[in-house]
Amino acid sequence: MAIQHEIVLSLAGDLDLKVLVRRYMSTCMRCLSARSVHLHLYLDGIDDVFAAEAKDFQDGRYFAIPRNMPVHPENIDDIRQLLQRWRQQDFRELEPTRIESGDSHYHLFPMSHGAVLILERHKIPLRDSVVQAISPIVEYLQSYCEVALKHGRIVSEVEKRTRAEQRLQHIAYHDDLTGMPNRLYLVEKINEALLAAKQGDWKGALIYIDLDNFRDINDSLGHAVGDQLLQLVGERLANNLTEGEVIARLGGDEFALLVPHLDAHKLSLMAIVESLRDKLKQPFQTPERPLYIAASFGLTVFPGDEEDAVSILRQGDIAMSQVKASGRNDLKFYEPAMDADARARFRLDADMRNALGSDQFQLHLQPQVDQNAQVLGAEVLIRWQHPELGFVSPLDFISIAEKTGFIVPMGQWILHEACRHIALLQQHPETRHWRIAVNISAKQFHQPKFVEMVDSILAQSGVPGSALELELTESTLLDNVEQVIEKMAALRERDIHISIDDFGTGYSSLTYLKRLPVNKLKIDQSFARGVHLSADDSVIVEAIIAMAGRFGLDVIAEGVEDIEDLEHLVELGCDEFQGYYFYRPQPLDQLLESLQLGSS
Ligand SMILES: [Mg+2]
Repeated sequence: MAIQHEIVLSLAGDLDLKVLVRRYMSTCMRCLSARSVHLHLYLDGIDDVFAAEAKDFQDGRYFAIPRNMPVHPENIDDIRQLLQRWRQQDFRELEPTRIESGDSHYHLFPMSHGAVLILERHKIPLRDSVVQAISPIVEYLQSYCEVALKHGRIVSEVEKRTRAEQRLQHIAYHDDLTGMPNRLYLVEKINEALLAAKQGDWKGALIYIDLDNFRDINDSLGHAVGDQLLQLVGERLANNLTEGEVIARLGGDEFALLVPHLDAHKLSLMAIVESLRDKLKQPFQTPERPLYIAASFGLTVFPGDEEDAVSILRQGDIAMSQVKASGRNDLKFYEPAMDADARARFRLDADMRNALGSDQFQLHLQPQVDQNAQVLGAEVLIRWQHPELGFVSPLDFISIAEKTGFIVPMGQWILHEACRHIALLQQHPETRHWRIAVNISAKQFHQPKFVEMVDSILAQSGVPGSALELELTESTLLDNVEQVIEKMAALRERDIHISIDDFGTGYSSLTYLKRLPVNKLKIDQSFARGVHLSADDSVIVEAIIAMAGRFGLDVIAEGVEDIEDLEHLVELGCDEFQGYYFYRPQPLDQLLESLQLGSS
Protein backbone atom coordinates (compact mmCIF):
# COMPACT_ATOMS: atom_id res chain seq x y z
CA MET A 1 0.00 0.00 0.00
CA ALA A 2 2.76 2.41 0.91
CA ILE A 3 4.42 1.81 -2.41
CA GLN A 4 1.20 2.27 -4.33
CA HIS A 5 0.70 5.49 -2.51
CA GLU A 6 4.15 6.59 -3.49
CA ILE A 7 3.36 6.02 -7.13
CA VAL A 8 0.31 8.21 -6.85
CA LEU A 9 2.33 10.88 -5.06
CA SER A 10 5.09 10.66 -7.59
CA LEU A 11 2.65 11.23 -10.40
CA ALA A 12 1.79 14.43 -8.65
CA GLY A 13 5.48 15.26 -8.79
CA ASP A 14 6.11 14.95 -5.07
CA LEU A 15 8.82 12.35 -5.22
CA ASP A 16 11.80 11.65 -7.37
CA LEU A 17 11.03 8.57 -9.41
CA LYS A 18 14.63 7.61 -9.82
CA VAL A 19 14.82 7.45 -6.05
CA LEU A 20 11.74 5.24 -6.10
CA VAL A 21 13.20 2.86 -8.62
CA ARG A 22 16.29 2.49 -6.49
CA ARG A 23 14.22 1.99 -3.40
CA TYR A 24 12.12 -0.63 -5.09
CA MET A 25 15.18 -2.48 -6.24
CA SER A 26 16.58 -2.43 -2.73
CA THR A 27 13.34 -3.98 -1.56
CA CYS A 28 13.65 -6.72 -4.18
CA MET A 29 17.18 -7.33 -3.04
CA ARG A 30 16.30 -7.56 0.62
CA CYS A 31 13.14 -9.65 0.24
CA LEU A 32 14.67 -12.10 -2.18
CA SER A 33 18.06 -12.29 -0.46
CA ALA A 34 19.79 -11.25 -3.63
CA ARG A 35 23.48 -10.44 -3.75
CA SER A 36 22.91 -7.76 -6.36
CA VAL A 37 20.10 -6.30 -8.42
CA HIS A 38 20.68 -4.75 -11.77
CA LEU A 39 18.39 -3.07 -14.23
CA HIS A 40 19.43 -3.20 -17.87
CA LEU A 41 17.68 -0.64 -20.06
CA TYR A 42 17.74 -1.02 -23.83
CA LEU A 43 15.94 2.17 -24.71
CA ASP A 44 17.99 4.53 -26.79
CA GLY A 45 18.54 7.90 -25.29
CA ILE A 46 18.34 6.55 -21.78
CA ASP A 47 21.78 7.96 -21.09
CA ASP A 48 20.37 11.46 -21.18
CA VAL A 49 17.91 10.69 -18.43
CA PHE A 50 20.45 9.64 -15.92
CA ALA A 51 23.40 11.64 -17.17
CA ALA A 52 22.64 14.21 -14.53
CA GLU A 53 22.64 11.42 -11.98
CA ALA A 54 26.17 10.30 -12.82
CA LYS A 55 27.00 10.18 -9.15
CA ASP A 56 24.01 8.05 -8.35
CA PHE A 57 24.31 5.83 -11.35
CA GLN A 58 27.86 5.19 -12.10
CA ASP A 59 27.11 4.07 -15.62
CA GLY A 60 24.36 5.86 -17.50
CA ARG A 61 22.78 2.76 -18.84
CA TYR A 62 22.10 0.84 -15.70
CA PHE A 63 20.73 1.11 -12.28
CA ALA A 64 22.69 -1.27 -10.17
CA ILE A 65 22.69 -2.15 -6.50
CA PRO A 66 25.31 -2.36 -5.11
CA ARG A 67 26.85 0.25 -7.38
CA ASN A 68 30.24 -1.39 -7.56
CA MET A 69 29.46 -4.99 -8.31
CA PRO A 70 32.42 -7.34 -8.01
CA VAL A 71 31.36 -8.99 -11.25
CA HIS A 72 29.15 -6.91 -13.46
CA PRO A 73 26.57 -9.26 -15.00
CA GLU A 74 27.16 -7.82 -18.44
CA ASN A 75 30.76 -8.92 -18.25
CA ILE A 76 29.52 -12.51 -18.24
CA ASP A 77 29.44 -13.84 -21.80
CA ASP A 78 26.23 -15.84 -21.52
CA ILE A 79 24.35 -12.90 -20.09
CA ARG A 80 25.68 -10.40 -22.61
CA GLN A 81 24.76 -12.71 -25.48
CA LEU A 82 21.29 -13.34 -24.11
CA LEU A 83 20.68 -9.61 -23.72
CA GLN A 84 21.78 -9.05 -27.31
CA ARG A 85 19.48 -11.83 -28.51
CA TRP A 86 16.54 -10.53 -26.52
CA ARG A 87 17.02 -7.10 -28.04
CA GLN A 88 15.94 -8.53 -31.43
CA GLN A 89 12.87 -10.32 -30.02
CA ASP A 90 9.35 -9.45 -29.04
CA PHE A 91 9.55 -8.80 -25.32
CA ARG A 92 6.08 -10.05 -24.63
CA GLU A 93 7.14 -13.54 -25.63
CA LEU A 94 10.23 -13.80 -23.44
CA GLU A 95 10.33 -15.88 -20.29
CA PRO A 96 12.33 -15.34 -17.10
CA THR A 97 15.65 -17.14 -17.51
CA ARG A 98 18.36 -18.32 -15.13
CA ILE A 99 22.07 -18.28 -15.91
CA GLU A 100 24.65 -19.84 -13.64
CA SER A 101 28.14 -18.42 -13.41
CA GLY A 102 30.68 -19.32 -10.74
CA ASP A 103 28.79 -19.57 -7.47
CA SER A 104 26.15 -17.08 -8.61
CA HIS A 105 22.74 -17.66 -10.12
CA TYR A 106 21.50 -14.78 -12.25
CA HIS A 107 17.75 -14.55 -12.78
CA LEU A 108 16.83 -12.42 -15.79
CA PHE A 109 13.31 -11.03 -15.91
CA PRO A 110 12.32 -9.46 -19.23
CA MET A 111 10.06 -6.42 -18.87
CA SER A 112 7.88 -5.36 -21.76
CA HIS A 113 9.32 -1.87 -21.97
CA GLY A 114 12.72 -2.82 -23.21
CA ALA A 115 14.32 -3.44 -19.88
CA VAL A 116 15.64 -6.48 -18.06
CA LEU A 117 15.81 -6.94 -14.31
CA ILE A 118 18.81 -9.04 -13.31
CA LEU A 119 18.82 -10.52 -9.85
CA GLU A 120 21.88 -12.32 -8.54
CA ARG A 121 21.67 -15.00 -5.84
CA HIS A 122 24.62 -16.54 -4.11
CA LYS A 123 24.77 -20.34 -4.47
CA ILE A 124 21.03 -20.98 -4.10
CA PRO A 125 18.79 -20.05 -7.05
CA LEU A 126 15.22 -18.85 -6.55
CA ARG A 127 12.67 -21.61 -6.61
CA ASP A 128 10.35 -21.70 -9.65
CA SER A 129 7.36 -20.89 -7.49
CA VAL A 130 9.16 -17.78 -6.23
CA VAL A 131 10.06 -16.74 -9.76
CA GLN A 132 6.39 -16.92 -10.66
CA ALA A 133 5.32 -15.20 -7.51
CA ILE A 134 7.59 -12.21 -8.05
CA SER A 135 6.43 -11.42 -11.56
CA PRO A 136 3.99 -8.86 -10.10
CA ILE A 137 6.99 -7.24 -8.43
CA VAL A 138 8.70 -7.05 -11.78
CA GLU A 139 5.58 -5.46 -13.19
CA TYR A 140 5.65 -2.86 -10.46
CA LEU A 141 9.20 -2.04 -11.24
CA GLN A 142 8.26 -1.81 -14.87
CA SER A 143 5.64 0.77 -14.05
CA TYR A 144 8.21 2.71 -12.11
CA CYS A 145 10.60 2.64 -15.01
CA GLU A 146 7.89 3.64 -17.38
CA VAL A 147 7.09 6.67 -15.30
CA ALA A 148 10.76 7.36 -14.66
CA LEU A 149 11.34 7.43 -18.39
CA LYS A 150 8.34 9.62 -18.90
CA HIS A 151 9.66 11.85 -16.22
CA GLY A 152 12.87 12.12 -18.20
CA ARG A 153 10.82 13.21 -21.21
CA ILE A 154 11.72 10.19 -23.23
CA VAL A 155 8.28 8.72 -23.55
CA SER A 156 6.45 11.78 -24.55
CA GLU A 157 3.62 10.55 -26.72
CA VAL A 158 0.28 11.15 -25.15
CA GLU A 159 -0.93 7.64 -25.77
CA LYS A 160 1.88 6.08 -23.85
CA ARG A 161 1.39 8.45 -20.99
CA THR A 162 -2.28 7.75 -20.76
CA ARG A 163 -1.58 4.06 -20.71
CA ALA A 164 0.96 4.42 -17.96
CA GLU A 165 -1.38 6.53 -15.93
CA GLN A 166 -4.21 4.06 -16.36
CA ARG A 167 -1.88 1.30 -15.33
CA LEU A 168 -0.76 3.21 -12.28
CA GLN A 169 -4.33 4.06 -11.44
CA HIS A 170 -5.09 0.36 -11.63
CA ILE A 171 -2.10 -0.55 -9.49
CA ALA A 172 -3.02 2.03 -6.91
CA TYR A 173 -6.55 0.70 -6.54
CA HIS A 174 -6.12 -3.01 -7.09
CA ASP A 175 -4.51 -5.89 -5.35
CA ASP A 176 -1.73 -7.37 -7.43
CA LEU A 177 -2.23 -11.00 -6.49
CA THR A 178 -5.95 -11.28 -7.18
CA GLY A 179 -6.57 -8.21 -9.33
CA MET A 180 -9.41 -7.33 -6.95
CA PRO A 181 -10.07 -3.82 -5.65
CA ASN A 182 -7.83 -3.11 -2.66
CA ARG A 183 -8.23 -1.36 0.66
CA LEU A 184 -7.62 2.10 -0.78
CA TYR A 185 -10.38 1.60 -3.31
CA LEU A 186 -12.75 0.17 -0.70
CA VAL A 187 -12.15 3.10 1.64
CA GLU A 188 -13.19 5.52 -1.09
CA LYS A 189 -16.28 3.48 -1.89
CA ILE A 190 -17.27 3.22 1.79
CA ASN A 191 -16.97 6.98 2.14
CA GLU A 192 -19.22 7.46 -0.88
CA ALA A 193 -21.73 4.90 0.43
CA LEU A 194 -21.69 6.51 3.88
CA LEU A 195 -22.50 9.91 2.46
CA ALA A 196 -25.26 8.52 0.23
CA ALA A 197 -26.79 6.56 3.13
CA LYS A 198 -26.87 9.66 5.33
CA GLN A 199 -28.44 11.77 2.62
CA GLY A 200 -30.89 9.10 1.48
CA ASP A 201 -31.70 7.94 5.03
CA TRP A 202 -31.02 4.27 4.41
CA LYS A 203 -28.63 1.67 5.78
CA GLY A 204 -25.56 0.09 4.31
CA ALA A 205 -23.32 -2.67 5.65
CA LEU A 206 -19.76 -3.87 5.62
CA ILE A 207 -18.93 -7.56 5.90
CA TYR A 208 -15.38 -8.27 6.97
CA ILE A 209 -14.18 -11.72 5.92
CA ASP A 210 -11.14 -13.58 7.20
CA LEU A 211 -10.31 -17.13 6.12
CA ASP A 212 -9.87 -19.61 8.95
CA ASN A 213 -6.54 -21.40 9.40
CA PHE A 214 -5.16 -20.00 6.17
CA ARG A 215 -1.68 -19.92 7.69
CA ASP A 216 -1.73 -23.68 8.00
CA ILE A 217 -2.26 -23.97 4.26
CA ASN A 218 0.64 -21.64 3.57
CA ASP A 219 2.80 -23.51 6.06
CA SER A 220 1.98 -27.00 4.91
CA LEU A 221 1.53 -26.59 1.16
CA GLY A 222 3.69 -23.55 0.47
CA HIS A 223 3.02 -19.96 -0.48
CA ALA A 224 2.44 -20.73 -4.15
CA VAL A 225 -0.57 -22.90 -3.28
CA GLY A 226 -1.69 -20.36 -0.69
CA ASP A 227 -1.56 -17.58 -3.28
CA GLN A 228 -3.46 -19.66 -5.75
CA LEU A 229 -6.13 -20.37 -3.16
CA LEU A 230 -6.47 -16.64 -2.44
CA GLN A 231 -7.02 -16.01 -6.15
CA LEU A 232 -9.71 -18.69 -6.34
CA VAL A 233 -11.41 -17.40 -3.21
CA GLY A 234 -11.36 -13.86 -4.62
CA GLU A 235 -12.93 -15.06 -7.86
CA ARG A 236 -15.73 -16.85 -6.07
CA LEU A 237 -16.50 -14.03 -3.70
CA ALA A 238 -16.69 -11.64 -6.63
CA ASN A 239 -19.27 -13.83 -8.41
CA ASN A 240 -22.86 -12.62 -8.72
CA LEU A 241 -22.49 -9.36 -6.86
CA THR A 242 -25.46 -7.03 -6.84
CA GLU A 243 -24.86 -3.74 -8.59
CA GLY A 244 -23.03 -1.28 -6.38
CA GLU A 245 -21.53 -3.94 -4.12
CA VAL A 246 -17.77 -3.97 -3.86
CA ILE A 247 -15.67 -6.93 -2.81
CA ALA A 248 -12.08 -6.06 -1.98
CA ARG A 249 -9.00 -7.86 -0.75
CA LEU A 250 -7.63 -6.03 2.26
CA GLY A 251 -4.39 -8.01 2.39
CA GLY A 252 -3.31 -11.48 3.52
CA ASP A 253 -6.40 -13.66 3.80
CA GLU A 254 -8.72 -10.76 4.57
CA PHE A 255 -11.52 -9.63 2.29
CA ALA A 256 -14.46 -7.27 2.72
CA LEU A 257 -17.82 -6.85 1.03
CA LEU A 258 -19.46 -3.44 0.94
CA VAL A 259 -23.25 -3.42 0.59
CA PRO A 260 -23.98 0.27 0.02
CA HIS A 261 -27.79 0.10 0.20
CA LEU A 262 -29.34 -2.69 2.25
CA ASP A 263 -32.96 -1.79 1.48
CA ALA A 264 -32.32 -1.89 -2.24
CA HIS A 265 -30.79 -5.34 -1.88
CA LYS A 266 -33.18 -8.20 -2.44
CA LEU A 267 -31.73 -10.16 0.48
CA SER A 268 -31.35 -9.46 4.17
CA LEU A 269 -27.86 -8.97 5.55
CA MET A 270 -27.89 -12.45 7.09
CA ALA A 271 -28.88 -13.95 3.75
CA ILE A 272 -25.99 -12.12 2.09
CA VAL A 273 -23.56 -13.63 4.58
CA GLU A 274 -25.11 -17.05 4.05
CA SER A 275 -24.56 -16.74 0.30
CA LEU A 276 -20.91 -15.82 0.93
CA ARG A 277 -20.51 -18.88 3.11
CA ASP A 278 -22.12 -21.03 0.42
CA LYS A 279 -19.61 -19.73 -2.09
CA LEU A 280 -16.75 -20.86 0.14
CA LYS A 281 -18.26 -24.21 1.04
CA GLN A 282 -17.39 -26.04 -2.18
CA PRO A 283 -13.81 -27.39 -2.28
CA PHE A 284 -11.16 -25.34 -4.08
CA GLN A 285 -9.21 -27.29 -6.67
CA THR A 286 -5.46 -26.89 -6.48
CA PRO A 287 -2.83 -29.06 -8.18
CA GLU A 288 -2.03 -30.64 -4.81
CA ARG A 289 -5.49 -31.58 -3.66
CA PRO A 290 -8.94 -30.10 -3.10
CA LEU A 291 -8.90 -27.64 -0.21
CA TYR A 292 -11.79 -26.96 2.11
CA ILE A 293 -11.93 -23.66 3.89
CA ALA A 294 -14.17 -21.77 6.26
CA ALA A 295 -14.20 -18.12 7.21
CA SER A 296 -15.03 -15.78 10.06
CA PHE A 297 -17.34 -12.84 9.34
CA GLY A 298 -17.57 -9.49 11.12
CA LEU A 299 -20.62 -7.37 10.27
CA THR A 300 -21.25 -3.71 10.80
CA VAL A 301 -24.15 -1.51 9.69
CA PHE A 302 -23.82 2.18 8.87
CA PRO A 303 -24.45 5.06 9.34
CA GLY A 304 -24.08 4.94 13.11
CA ASP A 305 -21.87 7.04 15.32
CA GLU A 306 -18.85 6.38 13.17
CA GLU A 307 -17.22 9.18 11.30
CA ASP A 308 -15.64 7.62 8.30
CA ALA A 309 -14.66 4.56 6.28
CA VAL A 310 -11.65 3.78 8.40
CA SER A 311 -13.73 3.41 11.57
CA ILE A 312 -16.29 1.28 9.71
CA LEU A 313 -13.51 -1.02 8.55
CA ARG A 314 -12.16 -1.13 12.07
CA GLN A 315 -15.58 -2.14 13.42
CA GLY A 316 -15.80 -4.97 10.90
CA ASP A 317 -12.31 -6.06 11.90
CA ILE A 318 -13.14 -5.97 15.62
CA ALA A 319 -16.30 -8.04 15.13
CA MET A 320 -14.41 -10.53 12.97
CA SER A 321 -11.64 -10.81 15.59
CA GLN A 322 -14.26 -11.69 18.18
CA VAL A 323 -15.40 -14.57 16.00
CA LYS A 324 -11.79 -15.74 15.76
CA ALA A 325 -11.37 -15.52 19.50
CA SER A 326 -14.49 -17.59 20.13
CA GLY A 327 -13.75 -20.47 17.82
CA ARG A 328 -13.93 -19.26 14.17
CA ASN A 329 -16.27 -20.21 11.31
CA ASP A 330 -19.10 -17.98 12.49
CA LEU A 331 -20.34 -14.40 12.25
CA LYS A 332 -20.78 -11.54 14.68
CA PHE A 333 -22.30 -8.09 14.51
CA TYR A 334 -20.17 -5.24 15.71
CA GLU A 335 -21.19 -3.88 19.13
CA PRO A 336 -19.61 -0.84 20.77
CA ALA A 337 -18.70 -3.03 23.79
CA MET A 338 -16.29 -4.86 21.52
CA ASP A 339 -14.21 -1.71 21.39
CA ALA A 340 -13.48 -2.20 25.07
CA ASP A 341 -11.93 -5.54 24.26
CA ALA A 342 -9.83 -4.09 21.48
CA ARG A 343 -8.81 -1.28 23.82
CA ALA A 344 -7.77 -3.81 26.45
CA ARG A 345 -5.50 -5.51 23.92
CA PHE A 346 -4.17 -2.14 22.90
CA ARG A 347 -3.45 -1.34 26.52
CA LEU A 348 -1.60 -4.61 27.06
CA ASP A 349 0.48 -3.84 24.01
CA ALA A 350 1.38 -0.38 25.28
CA ASP A 351 2.03 -1.53 28.86
CA MET A 352 4.15 -4.42 27.69
CA ARG A 353 6.46 -2.05 25.81
CA ASN A 354 6.91 0.10 28.89
CA ALA A 355 7.35 -2.83 31.24
CA LEU A 356 10.11 -4.68 29.45
CA GLY A 357 13.29 -4.31 31.44
CA SER A 358 11.40 -3.47 34.63
CA ASP A 359 10.83 -6.17 37.25
CA GLN A 360 7.28 -6.81 36.02
CA PHE A 361 8.63 -9.49 33.75
CA GLN A 362 10.30 -12.50 35.22
CA LEU A 363 11.48 -15.86 34.01
CA HIS A 364 10.21 -19.07 35.55
CA LEU A 365 12.00 -22.37 35.04
CA GLN A 366 10.32 -25.71 34.53
CA PRO A 367 12.79 -28.56 34.99
CA GLN A 368 13.20 -31.38 32.50
CA VAL A 369 14.06 -34.76 33.98
CA ASP A 370 15.14 -38.25 32.99
CA GLN A 371 13.47 -41.54 33.95
CA ASN A 372 15.07 -41.38 37.41
CA ALA A 373 13.67 -37.88 37.96
CA GLN A 374 17.20 -36.44 37.74
CA VAL A 375 17.05 -32.86 36.49
CA LEU A 376 18.79 -32.41 33.13
CA GLY A 377 17.86 -28.80 32.56
CA ALA A 378 14.84 -26.53 32.36
CA GLU A 379 12.69 -24.57 29.98
CA VAL A 380 12.38 -20.87 30.77
CA LEU A 381 8.93 -19.33 30.53
CA ILE A 382 8.15 -15.63 30.74
CA ARG A 383 5.72 -14.38 33.39
CA TRP A 384 4.17 -10.92 33.64
CA GLN A 385 3.03 -9.40 36.91
CA HIS A 386 1.14 -6.28 35.81
CA PRO A 387 1.05 -3.57 38.54
CA GLU A 388 -2.71 -3.07 38.11
CA LEU A 389 -4.03 -6.12 36.28
CA GLY A 390 -2.07 -8.66 38.30
CA PHE A 391 -0.85 -11.82 36.61
CA VAL A 392 -1.35 -11.61 32.84
CA SER A 393 -1.35 -14.95 31.06
CA PRO A 394 1.35 -15.45 28.42
CA LEU A 395 -1.47 -16.75 26.22
CA ASP A 396 -2.81 -13.19 26.17
CA PHE A 397 0.30 -11.10 25.78
CA ILE A 398 2.52 -13.36 23.66
CA SER A 399 -0.05 -13.46 20.88
CA ILE A 400 -0.20 -9.65 20.90
CA ALA A 401 3.58 -9.41 20.88
CA GLU A 402 3.73 -11.84 17.95
CA LYS A 403 1.24 -9.77 16.03
CA THR A 404 2.92 -6.41 16.64
CA GLY A 405 6.49 -7.65 16.27
CA PHE A 406 7.30 -6.72 19.87
CA ILE A 407 8.19 -10.38 20.28
CA VAL A 408 11.58 -9.54 18.78
CA PRO A 409 12.87 -7.22 21.55
CA MET A 410 10.99 -9.29 24.11
CA GLY A 411 12.61 -12.49 22.87
CA GLN A 412 15.98 -10.80 23.05
CA TRP A 413 15.35 -9.82 26.66
CA ILE A 414 14.29 -13.40 27.48
CA LEU A 415 17.44 -14.81 25.94
CA HIS A 416 19.55 -12.33 27.84
CA GLU A 417 17.84 -13.14 31.09
CA ALA A 418 18.05 -16.88 30.42
CA CYS A 419 21.82 -16.60 29.95
CA ARG A 420 22.08 -14.68 33.20
CA HIS A 421 20.27 -17.61 34.86
CA ILE A 422 22.65 -20.07 33.20
CA ALA A 423 25.60 -18.15 34.60
CA LEU A 424 24.11 -18.51 38.10
CA LEU A 425 23.37 -22.21 37.61
CA GLN A 426 26.94 -22.80 36.52
CA GLN A 427 28.15 -21.70 39.94
CA HIS A 428 26.58 -24.79 41.55
CA PRO A 429 28.27 -28.14 41.04
CA GLU A 430 24.79 -29.76 41.15
CA THR A 431 23.33 -27.59 38.39
CA ARG A 432 26.43 -26.91 36.32
CA HIS A 433 25.39 -29.48 33.71
CA TRP A 434 21.87 -28.08 33.22
CA ARG A 435 20.87 -27.07 29.75
CA ILE A 436 18.39 -24.19 29.59
CA ALA A 437 15.78 -24.15 26.85
CA VAL A 438 14.43 -20.87 25.47
CA ASN A 439 11.40 -20.54 23.18
CA ILE A 440 12.22 -18.66 20.01
CA SER A 441 9.38 -17.23 17.93
CA ALA A 442 9.40 -17.44 14.16
CA LYS A 443 9.69 -13.66 13.78
CA GLN A 444 12.72 -13.61 16.03
CA PHE A 445 14.43 -16.54 14.35
CA HIS A 446 13.95 -15.04 10.91
CA GLN A 447 15.65 -11.78 11.89
CA PRO A 448 18.67 -11.45 9.58
CA LYS A 449 21.07 -10.93 12.51
CA PHE A 450 19.62 -13.61 14.78
CA VAL A 451 22.80 -15.66 15.07
CA GLU A 452 24.92 -12.56 15.72
CA MET A 453 22.46 -11.52 18.42
CA VAL A 454 22.80 -14.91 20.13
CA ASP A 455 26.57 -14.64 19.86
CA SER A 456 26.69 -11.27 21.51
CA ILE A 457 24.44 -12.38 24.39
CA LEU A 458 26.55 -15.48 24.97
CA ALA A 459 29.69 -13.36 24.94
CA GLN A 460 28.24 -10.79 27.36
CA SER A 461 27.06 -13.40 29.83
CA GLY A 462 30.15 -15.57 29.43
CA VAL A 463 28.20 -18.82 29.21
CA PRO A 464 29.02 -21.60 26.73
CA GLY A 465 26.66 -22.34 23.84
CA SER A 466 26.43 -25.93 25.07
CA ALA A 467 24.35 -24.77 28.05
CA LEU A 468 21.70 -23.31 25.79
CA GLU A 469 18.88 -24.95 23.87
CA LEU A 470 16.61 -23.09 21.47
CA GLU A 471 13.05 -24.33 21.00
CA LEU A 472 11.64 -23.68 17.54
CA THR A 473 8.20 -24.59 16.31
CA GLU A 474 7.62 -26.55 13.14
CA SER A 475 6.05 -23.60 11.38
CA THR A 476 9.23 -21.58 11.93
CA LEU A 477 11.15 -24.18 9.97
CA LEU A 478 8.94 -24.38 6.92
CA ASP A 479 9.50 -20.87 5.71
CA ASN A 480 12.61 -20.35 3.64
CA VAL A 481 14.10 -23.75 4.43
CA GLU A 482 17.56 -23.09 2.99
CA GLN A 483 18.11 -20.08 5.20
CA VAL A 484 16.70 -21.93 8.18
CA ILE A 485 19.16 -24.77 7.68
CA GLU A 486 22.04 -22.33 7.31
CA LYS A 487 21.12 -20.59 10.57
CA MET A 488 20.60 -23.85 12.43
CA ALA A 489 23.98 -25.10 11.26
CA ALA A 490 25.59 -21.88 12.48
CA LEU A 491 23.96 -22.35 15.90
CA ARG A 492 25.06 -25.95 16.07
CA GLU A 493 28.63 -24.88 15.35
CA ARG A 494 28.40 -22.96 18.61
CA ASP A 495 27.30 -26.15 20.42
CA ILE A 496 23.85 -24.72 20.93
CA HIS A 497 21.15 -27.39 21.00
CA ILE A 498 18.02 -27.11 18.93
CA SER A 499 14.70 -28.73 19.72
CA ILE A 500 11.42 -28.70 17.87
CA ASP A 501 8.62 -27.57 20.15
CA ASP A 502 5.00 -28.74 20.05
CA PHE A 503 6.09 -31.58 17.81
CA GLY A 504 3.30 -33.51 16.12
CA THR A 505 0.93 -30.58 15.69
CA GLY A 506 2.43 -29.38 12.39
CA TYR A 507 2.09 -30.96 9.01
CA SER A 508 5.16 -31.56 6.92
CA SER A 509 7.46 -32.48 9.74
CA LEU A 510 8.73 -35.78 8.44
CA THR A 511 10.05 -34.65 5.09
CA TYR A 512 12.02 -31.79 6.59
CA LEU A 513 13.27 -33.54 9.63
CA LYS A 514 15.94 -35.47 7.79
CA ARG A 515 17.54 -32.30 6.48
CA LEU A 516 17.44 -30.26 9.66
CA PRO A 517 20.30 -30.24 12.15
CA VAL A 518 18.03 -30.78 15.14
CA ASN A 519 18.87 -32.43 18.49
CA LYS A 520 15.54 -33.07 20.09
CA LEU A 521 11.80 -33.36 19.54
CA LYS A 522 9.41 -32.10 22.19
CA ILE A 523 6.24 -34.13 21.92
CA ASP A 524 3.35 -31.73 22.19
CA GLN A 525 1.56 -31.81 25.50
CA SER A 526 -1.77 -32.56 23.85
CA PHE A 527 -0.42 -36.07 23.12
CA ALA A 528 1.21 -36.69 26.48
CA ARG A 529 -1.72 -35.52 28.58
CA GLY A 530 -4.02 -38.49 29.11
CA VAL A 531 -1.93 -40.67 26.80
CA HIS A 532 -2.63 -43.79 28.90
CA LEU A 533 -6.32 -43.42 28.06
CA SER A 534 -5.97 -42.77 24.35
CA ALA A 535 -4.98 -45.44 21.85
CA ASP A 536 -4.67 -42.82 19.11
CA ASP A 537 -2.27 -40.64 21.07
CA SER A 538 -0.25 -43.70 22.04
CA VAL A 539 0.21 -44.63 18.40
CA ILE A 540 1.34 -41.10 17.53
CA VAL A 541 3.77 -40.92 20.46
CA GLU A 542 5.17 -44.31 19.61
CA ALA A 543 5.65 -43.31 15.98
CA ILE A 544 7.39 -40.06 16.95
CA ILE A 545 9.75 -41.93 19.28
CA ALA A 546 10.54 -44.56 16.64
CA MET A 547 11.21 -41.90 14.02
CA ALA A 548 13.36 -39.85 16.40
CA GLY A 549 15.36 -42.98 17.11
CA ARG A 550 15.98 -43.52 13.42
CA PHE A 551 17.23 -39.95 12.99
CA GLY A 552 19.26 -40.11 16.19
CA LEU A 553 17.22 -37.48 17.98
CA ASP A 554 16.34 -37.17 21.65
CA VAL A 555 12.70 -37.05 22.65
CA ILE A 556 11.04 -35.30 25.55
CA ALA A 557 7.37 -35.46 26.53
CA GLU A 558 5.79 -32.23 27.75
CA GLY A 559 2.71 -31.88 29.91
CA VAL A 560 3.32 -34.96 32.06
CA GLU A 561 0.83 -34.54 34.89
CA ASP A 562 0.25 -37.91 36.50
CA ILE A 563 1.93 -41.21 37.21
CA GLU A 564 -0.28 -43.19 34.80
CA ASP A 565 0.74 -41.06 31.84
CA LEU A 566 4.36 -41.17 32.94
CA GLU A 567 4.44 -44.96 33.19
CA HIS A 568 2.76 -45.28 29.83
CA LEU A 569 5.25 -42.88 28.23
CA VAL A 570 8.14 -44.87 29.70
CA GLU A 571 6.64 -48.02 28.19
CA LEU A 572 6.45 -46.32 24.81
CA GLY A 573 10.18 -45.61 25.03
CA CYS A 574 10.21 -41.98 26.11
CA ASP A 575 13.11 -41.08 28.40
CA GLU A 576 12.83 -37.34 29.14
CA PHE A 577 9.92 -35.55 30.73
CA GLN A 578 8.61 -32.14 31.65
CA GLY A 579 5.39 -31.40 33.48
CA TYR A 580 3.52 -30.70 36.69
CA TYR A 581 3.99 -34.27 37.87
CA PHE A 582 7.63 -33.38 38.46
CA TYR A 583 7.86 -29.60 38.76
CA ARG A 584 5.80 -26.50 38.12
CA PRO A 585 7.49 -23.53 36.47
CA GLN A 586 8.96 -21.37 39.24
CA PRO A 587 11.52 -18.62 39.78
CA LEU A 588 15.12 -19.74 40.00
CA ASP A 589 15.63 -19.12 43.73
CA GLN A 590 12.46 -21.04 44.64
CA LEU A 591 13.49 -23.88 42.41
CA LEU A 592 16.95 -24.11 43.94
CA GLU A 593 15.39 -24.03 47.36
CA SER A 594 12.98 -26.86 46.53
CA LEU A 595 15.96 -28.83 45.25
CA GLN A 596 17.65 -27.94 48.54
CA LEU A 597 20.50 -26.27 46.73
CA GLY A 598 19.94 -22.83 48.18
CA SER A 599 20.18 -19.61 46.25
CA SER A 600 23.50 -18.08 45.40
MG1 LIG B 1 8.37 -24.55 24.61
